Amino acid sequence: MTGKLEKCKAFLLDIIFPNRCPFCGSFIMWNEFICKACDENIEKANDAVCRSCGKRKCVCGSGNTDIDMVFASFFYNDSAVKNAVMSLKLRGEINIAAYTAKDIAFRMKKENIPKPDMIVPVPMGRKKQRKRGYNQAELLAEQIGRYLGVPVDKNILFKYDTKEEQHNFGMKSREERVKGLFYKNDDADLSGKRVLICDDVMTTGATLNECSVLLKSLGAVHTAAAVCAVTELNTTLGEDA
Ligand SMILES: [Zn+2]
Ligand SMILES: [Zn+2]
Repeated sequence: MTGKLEKCKAFLLDIIFPNRCPFCGSFIMWNEFICKACDENIEKANDAVCRSCGKRKCVCGSGNTDIDMVFASFFYNDSAVKNAVMSLKLRGEINIAAYTAKDIAFRMKKENIPKPDMIVPVPMGRKKQRKRGYNQAELLAEQIGRYLGVPVDKNILFKYDTKEEQHNFGMKSREERVKGLFYKNDDADLSGKRVLICDDVMTTGATLNECSVLLKSLGAVHTAAAVCAVTELNTTLGEDA
C-alpha cells in the first residue's frame, strides 16, 4: 500500500476505532504513536544504552557480542512499556513499532550511521505464526523498512516449531537453548551486506546473537539489532531470549 493510501486508511479507521496511546490507553490523534504525557515521562533507552551492546550497564566484552550494534527505544522494565509491547505482540497494534521505526531512523541520521542494505525480522515458528496471523518482529521490520526505505527480507532466517518454553532459565542455559532453534536459507548470498535484525524485545541478546551468527555465515559483514524495548540487567521475561 502506498504511503498516501495508508494514511487515508489510518484516518478513516480512526473514526470507527479511535487511535490510542499504546502505553497508557488514552486517546491520541490518528497520526500519533504516543501521547504527550507518555512521551515526556517514559525514559528513552536510545539515550541511555551502549550503542554496541544495547545495555545501560555495558556488557561488551562478555563474549555474547556477535551483534555489532543495538538500537532500543524503551526499557521493558517500565510497566507502561510492557503494555505497549503486549499490544503489539498479542493484538498486532503497531503504534510502538511505528514509534521505534521513526526513532531508529532519527538516531541513524543523528549518529551518522549508514543505512543497512536489508532488514531481517527474527523469525517465528511457522505453525505459531499461522495461528497468530502475524509475527510482531515482522510488523516492526516493515515499519522500519518504510522509514528507512530499505527492503525487508523474510526468506533468510527461519525458526523451527518447538514447544520448548524458555521460562526460568539463567543466562547460560538460555543461550544454549537458543542454539539450534533457527535455520537459514543456504541459497541466500549476503556478501558484503549490512543487515538490521528486528525483534520486539531484547533480554540477554541470545536470540539476536544467534541470528547474527547465521547472517554472517551467509556473508553479512555488519549486523545491527533494532528492538522496541530492552530489559535492564538481571531481569528475564517469558519465552523470548
Ligand atoms: Zn500515553
Ligand atoms: Zn556495551
